[in-house]
Amino acid sequence: MSMIDEAVQQADQTAAVLAQPGALSKLGDLFASCFPAASARLVADQRTWQVAGAAAQDSLTAAGVPQAEPFVLPGEPELYARYENVELVRQALAGGDAVAVAIGSGTLNDLVKRASDELGRRYAVVATAASMDGYTAFGASISRDGYKQTLDCPAPLLAVADYDIMAQAPSVMNASGYGDLLGKVVAGADWILADALGVEPIDATVWSLVQASLRSALSDPAGVKAGQAAAVAELSEGLVMSGLAMQAYHGSRPASGSEHLFAHLWEMEGLGVDLKPRRLSHGFKVGLGSIAMAALYELVLELDWSQIDPAAAARRWPSWSQRAALIETKFASSDLTVAALAQSQAKYVDAGAVEARLADLIAQWPALRQRLADQLLPAAELQTRLRTVGAPASPGDIGLTWAALRDTYSRAQLIRSRYTVLDLLAEAAELEPLADRLFEADGFWGRQRG
Ligand SMILES: [Zn+2]
Repeated sequence: MSMIDEAVQQADQTAAVLAQPGALSKLGDLFASCFPAASARLVADQRTWQVAGAAAQDSLTAAGVPQAEPFVLPGEPELYARYENVELVRQALAGGDAVAVAIGSGTLNDLVKRASDELGRRYAVVATAASMDGYTAFGASISRDGYKQTLDCPAPLLAVADYDIMAQAPSVMNASGYGDLLGKVVAGADWILADALGVEPIDATVWSLVQASLRSALSDPAGVKAGQAAAVAELSEGLVMSGLAMQAYHGSRPASGSEHLFAHLWEMEGLGVDLKPRRLSHGFKVGLGSIAMAALYELVLELDWSQIDPAAAARRWPSWSQRAALIETKFASSDLTVAALAQSQAKYVDAGAVEARLADLIAQWPALRQRLADQLLPAAELQTRLRTVGAPASPGDIGLTWAALRDTYSRAQLIRSRYTVLDLLAEAAELEPLADRLFEADGFWGRQRG
């Protein structure tokens, strides 16, 4: 049994994933077995239709699956995942009872995923690029009332990833997927930390779905950029595994840590949303967040934790009302402030718990430090790989000022209840000093700033 088949058995929303060269030719048979007696409606945009529309139609026809008229959205301007487009897709699908088959990547998949769920239907997806890990994940990243958020909805019942098609996708799209997958290096370190401190134990089965093949999936950024079949296949497989791991875990912890908090904050604030010809992708933000967090982790690993006094840190730890007052000053948007208050309160612990957690960390630091060091890669290495794959690798590349990047270190921790190294550092009163050091003349970012 393949690695992906084993992962599908752990997942509870997706019934079948076929990921291999030529997989699209099997779409019809798979659809017929996943959705017996249903008709299909292909949903694509003009670009993805050109890439895979006819082959998808042929495969469905050959398997005897009745088809409604395809729904093809414009290719230009680039489709955006805003809620109005969910409504557009839903209204189109509501005209019949066919099961939607999304042909596309991030945005198109998210629109069809959410629209189908609003109609009480499951759906299928044909992946056209290795651009993110959402093909096999639940939830849709949608902008609503000007605020990017993850809307609830189940993963597809059937996912088809044809590596021949994905290898021919624009290289910036596969570079985005590389950035998203690179984030799993940092996310793994954050989970190790949360596990060691008793915040969120590691589920060993789920952990291995993401981490066991991660190093090999990330091993050939030059091959991904060149569209080499083997490199894109490994990357695609890593992304599919990541989505299935989230399903198996019923949460995003296996695939998302502090690096995603950086990306989510930039996403929610609309960074790069107007870039032409392509919007700043999720994976590009995650990639830069991964460099940023790997650099911070290097300082964490160098820190002499035996010099940290848990009792003194506990005395400096703010009450919830002090913390809430600080959060009120951090975000321009009131929606974000409200969300950050709720998320931060969910993980707020009192001074006694902070003291105990730091004492626990110090007691197990040598062994924990080794686990973290084994998991992580140097920030400079991540930066080189992202440049090689053709992804942004410094703040200027994504239109972020040095000051805004520095500020993200202080704010990212506030927007989600997930416990990461950012929380540990905040509790130890080390977050601001260490983040400042990164921007000093000899710090990781300071050296690049010149
Ligand atoms: Zn992601």
